[in-house]
Amino acid sequence: MTLQTGATIGIVGGGQLGRMMAMAALRLGFRVHVFAPPSGDNVAFAAAHETTLAHYDNAPAMAAFAADVDVLTFEFENVPVAALEGVGTPIRPAATALGAGQDRLTEKVFLQRCGLPVAPHADITDAASLDAARQSIPDGILKARRLGYDGKGQTRITPDVASADALAAIGNVPAILEKRIGFTAETSVVLVRGADGTSRSYDPALNTHENGILRQTSFPAPVEGDVAAEARRLTQGVADTLDYVGVLAVEFFVTDDPDAPLIANEMAPRVHNTGHWTMDGALTGQFENHIRAIAGWPLGDTSRIADVTMLNILGSEIDDLPRHVENPAARCHIYGKRSASPGRKMGHVNFIERTVDFAGNRW
Ligand code: ATP
Ligand code: MG
Repeated sequence: MTLQTGATIGIVGGGQLGRMMAMAALRLGFRVHVFAPPSGDNVAFAAAHETTLAHYDNAPAMAAFAADVDVLTFEFENVPVAALEGVGTPIRPAATALGAGQDRLTEKVFLQRCGLPVAPHADITDAASLDAARQSIPDGILKARRLGYDGKGQTRITPDVASADALAAIGNVPAILEKRIGFTAETSVVLVRGADGTSRSYDPALNTHENGILRQTSFPAPVEGDVAAEARRLTQGVADTLDYVGVLAVEFFVTDDPDAPLIANEMAPRVHNTGHWTMDGALTGQFENHIRAIAGWPLGDTSRIADVTMLNILGSEIDDLPRHVENPAARCHIYGKRSASPGRKMGHVNFIERTVDFAGNRW
């Protein structure tokens, strides 16, 4: 399936990722229809020709949306897979890719099946299973199996914490206990795979988190060339296993253990915050490449053209915008959200530090 200019891209989810996806689609001459639930700002609606405001499980609304679009994609990984069942329109990436990352336990099993090393972990159903798991994983992070993001649904397990209290802190839901990894850096591979199976990936950057939320993504990254190549190879394995079409991200911990220099943290079957630098620092940004892939178009070149630092604007930091717009090296991307609650992603700024010679650096 190859879409012509003027065809309609259907985006499920109304957040900033959908907004930037829609803007890329508009730039290539597509029509855009966004489906999003009534909660939230739905900042993607501003970039759409057509909008549907309905819950994901509203089957008639989803069917009408699907009938209006030529391809359906999503910007939010927790769209219930069942809501997309029976939809006649092509879904890219497929709903199986969506399902692969929704549960942290089955996600780890899947990543291991694809050959990716993951952190030691245990299935936690109650305080007794947590007590038992703490014997082998004394310093860990308890993570809800479903619906976590930006570090939500997670709590650190130290010896002084009672298992019942830790479970209560995440809402007494099914969870995993994951060993805390002493990483030297965090990185990620943002990869795009086309409908014909060709893949390209972006340079792995240095990702810095604060309180479980991505603070910035920057270059140069302290990731050796062979480690970066291995991260790309592993991510490609995930994409090939899923016969994936679109942008996929895999987050990694980088360690100083020569036997296990990379540990996969998680995958995201969508465009990713750690790929926002590509909007200004690569020949083709991740949003455009996602649209190209799902439209069956040739992929754009992913070469990095600059050392860039992507800074997330969180909560009240939106008040710093006047300072950023005065900086000629700052490219501002503001999401248009109405309220700036603490930690909320309000926008990002790409600071172009230095353009680089990218010849011979083509992935
Ligand atoms: P996001 O949606 O922003 O990716 P998330 O809620 O899915 O976040 P994770 O990626 O699991 O959460 O964790 C957020 C951050 O917490 C990681 O990027 C890392 O900095 C830290 N972290 C998570 N798990 C571990 C671990 N096992 N060892 C060390 N640090 C960890
Ligand atoms: Mg993460």
